[in-house]
Amino acid sequence: MPEMNQLNKLSRWSLEEARGVGHILIVRCGLCNITRRFLPDDLLKLRKNTTINRLRFTCQECHKRDYMDVTVYLPSASEIGKLYVRRLVGIKEVKMPVWRDETI
Ligand SMILES: [Zn+2]
Repeated sequence: MPEMNQLNKLSRWSLEEARGVGHILIVRCGLCNITRRFLPDDLLKLRKNTTINRLRFTCQECHKRDYMDVTVYLPSASEIGKLYVRRLVGIKEVKMPVWRDETI
């Protein structure tokens, strides 16, 4: 991806396109100053394809969304095998009770 207006580009760049060229997602919380990297392929296991700018992340430290910033990054050949990424290791289903008031 050429270094052009990143925000404009991310509004048209999808997870599938990012996966196709080998991009990784850089997600940073500006409040906690924590950066995590994700593979588009892992996110596509959780949700259907969308543009990068539509992704909504919640910081796992401060639990806020307002300070999250998402960009894409193409790792260089020398970084392969050295770059830490947060991988999806499983999907846990949670049972939530649903209640309603009725007369008997
Ligand atoms: Zn945070």
